[in-house]
This record gives sequence, C-alpha cells and structure tokens, in this order.
Amino acid sequence: MKIRFINCGYCSNIERLVRKKGKIKQIRFPALTVYIEHPKGNILFDTGYSNHFYECVKKFPYNIYGLLTPCTVKEEEYAVNVLKDKKIDFIILSHFHADHISGLRDFPSVPIICSKKEYFHLKDKKNFNALKEGFIPKLLPDDFDNRAKYIEDLNLIENPIKNSVFNKVYDFFEDGKLLIVELPGHSKNTLGLIINDEKKYFLISDAAWVKENYLYGDYPSKITRLVMDDYKEFINTLKKSENFQRKQIMNLK
Ligand SMILES: [Zn+2]
Repeated sequence: MKIRFINCGYCSNIERLVRKKGKIKQIRFPALTVYIEHPKGNILFDTGYSNHFYECVKKFPYNIYGLLTPCTVKEEEYAVNVLKDKKIDFIILSHFHADHISGLRDFPSVPIICSKKEYFHLKDKKNFNALKEGFIPKLLPDDFDNRAKYIEDLNLIENPIKNSVFNKVYDFFEDGKLLIVELPGHSKNTLGLIINDEKKYFLISDAAWVKENYLYGDYPSKITRLVMDDYKEFINTLKKSENFQRKQIMNLK
C-alpha cells in the first residue's frame, strides 16, 4: 500500500487546554488527512479543512466555532487540490468535527464510511445543540444519507494482530490490512484506523491531541473535558491506544 500524510490546514488553540502542563500560548493542530492506495481502492481518511469551513462559519451561531477554533488553510492545501490527479473510492470519517469533514463536499458521490452511532447522535442537531458537539451540519453534502455506509454494518472480527488491546476490529477490505477500531471518548464513537502493512501506522484522530497526552499522562485541562463526549472513556481509549502502539511498535498518527 502507498500511504501519504497530508496536512490540510490547521487550527490554533491554547496549549494549556490540551495538556495541563502546557503553556498559555497558541499552538497549531494540523488537520491531518491520510491518503491510502490499496489494490481494492483508494481511501481518504478524513478530509481536513477547505473553503467550505469559511463559508459555514460566516453566520451566527456557527461563527462562534470559527472564533473559538480559528482555522488557517491555503487553497493548495485542500485535500481535493493536493490529490487532484487521484481517484478517491472511499472516504472514512474518524468523526464529524469541522477539521475532519470540511473537505467532504469536494468529493461528490464518493461513498462515506462512518460510525452510525456517531452520525445518528448528531444528524438532527442544529444551532447551539450542534455547536456543543463541534458539529456544523452544512459541511455535510446534501446526499450524505445516501452515500453513508456504517461500520456497524460490517463484520466485527477478531483482530488479526494477536495479543491486541483492541481485540475486535472491522476489517475494511477483508484482507487484514486496514482495520477500523472504535475510539470513543473524544466524540460519541471516534474511529481509528490501523494500517497493518510492512510499515504499521495507527491513525487515532483526536483520541490524543498532542504526544504528551499518551507519552506522559499529561491530560487535557478541566475546561476541555467539558467539550468531550465522555472524559473517562477518553482516558480509557488513550491508555489503550498507547498500550497498543507500544506493544505493536506502531507509528501513532
Ligand atoms: Zn475532534
């Protein structure tokens, strides 16, 4: 498989919010998108920022999102521009925060793989109820429901990586190479992806924001806990992810 890591812009926030020992200074959080070429299809894991974000945060109350989490992205960094000569066959969404779904509308008619539990938790929420969840409904394409495929409808199998902390996985192409795992806590049911090739990667999305979260147990501040779906679950998932990475000698992204 060919793997390419692409930063589609970034948002800025205060370091102390994401780790208690951090400084009161602005740091950048890259909107990571991962392009994977697999013999059965080309995958995009998350879509990063694009101009749709700026469009959607012009009006109240969604402008609050833009103020709290300011985004910077250049046109040449949009996933669709970086990958303009590639055909995308599937998009996997880790979750529905704006830095993960803003590029969705740039890939019309591509099937979207996500968690039903996550999507149904959000789909009817609007305005402040949506904002509370970090969700901007307009970022979703109008035909989202027709294109969505839910991981919960795939077979949950034993993880082919033995002695795994994550015993059950969704084997996307049924060849043991791309394994989707559930990483709840940050959002209702954040999805991670294990790339089980010669070089192994574990894409954990926002299950950790900075390496200090999983390396040194330097966890987010109390204020940040309020925006998480479930802080206890977040810590549980963080510990599991760190344990898994250490045991399997994986690259955590
Ligand atoms: Zn997030």
